[in-house]
Amino acid sequence: MAPEPVPFIDGHNDILLTLHLAGDGAAPFLSRRSEGHLDLERAREGGFAAGFFAVFVLPETEKERAATRIPDRKPPYAQPLAGPVPTEYALREAGAIIDLLDELAASGDVRVARRVDDVESALSGGPLTAILHFEGAEPIEPGLENLAELYERGLRSLGPVWSRSNAFAEGVAFRFPYSPDIGGGLTEAGRRLVSECNRLGILVDLAHLNERGFWDVASLSEAPLIASHSNAHALSPNSRNLIDAQLDEIGRSGGIVGITYHTGMLTEAGGVDPDVPLARVIDHVDYVAGRIGVDHIGFGSDFDGATVPAELGDASGLQRVAAALRDRGYTEEDVAKLAHGNWLRVLHETWA
Ligand code: ZN
Repeated sequence: MAPEPVPFIDGHNDILLTLHLAGDGAAPFLSRRSEGHLDLERAREGGFAAGFFAVFVLPETEKERAATRIPDRKPPYAQPLAGPVPTEYALREAGAIIDLLDELAASGDVRVARRVDDVESALSGGPLTAILHFEGAEPIEPGLENLAELYERGLRSLGPVWSRSNAFAEGVAFRFPYSPDIGGGLTEAGRRLVSECNRLGILVDLAHLNERGFWDVASLSEAPLIASHSNAHALSPNSRNLIDAQLDEIGRSGGIVGITYHTGMLTEAGGVDPDVPLARVIDHVDYVAGRIGVDHIGFGSDFDGATVPAELGDASGLQRVAAALRDRGYTEEDVAKLAHGNWLRVLHETWA
């Protein structure tokens, strides 16, 4: 007998930026798009019940934007950090991107998560639930004056930085092969941001922080530590991946490593390659589970922001991830934890 489809809570996608750049509003998400990885129809097919929907602000100029395009990178590479973006511009862009999310919510088919109940109801057949996430805190004023207002608009998760510097921290530069130990940690404003996120119940994501920033958050934050879309550095020495000491600290905190399907972060040799087998994703699950246990792993697809294995394809293929876990010997209970249970536990502990 075929096992029941398992619903997924997904740690990271870039569909809002894709919609923003296309300029046709939110409507393309509500049917089936011919490109990319995620839309309402493919989410339903694959069991994508809820996910972190990133607001990411591109640099202002085309020249700076070109430097952020990941698929061109061939290892070895050592890209300099992207330049900073001004707060006022970032806030304007973020506003337009959040408007798209509100447009999706107005359709009735998508809900913006405000409480854990919303995510729980998505797991039992309710509307697709989007968790509003900032990938880089540039839209937040360095004095945090507008943070509470953004929380009211639905903000429930943020990474202090993407891979560039801002008022709060220094991101991790894209390098392969390389350690994540590149550059400085949190600024004073960054420390205040982490504390204020703890107080408001906003999840702090470590995915694009360098190692100094990671340890600064680890020593400061009272919430479980989360890296929403990062893999094991031992299996793929990408500066964005987590070294063993970081994995151990995430486990100790009760947090989650969101294993990402991004092929550039999966292999020993590095480089973006859709022919990487889906089994390689499970190698990372095995490695992290071997170190810190199956309770500290989820998935962070990076749909519409990365090149994922062709064998997975897009969001409609998520049950193949569940099948690959079963093939590797994970029990039905483990599969449920990995697909959604662990994320749900962390949301309960972080948002309350
Ligand atoms: Zn990212």
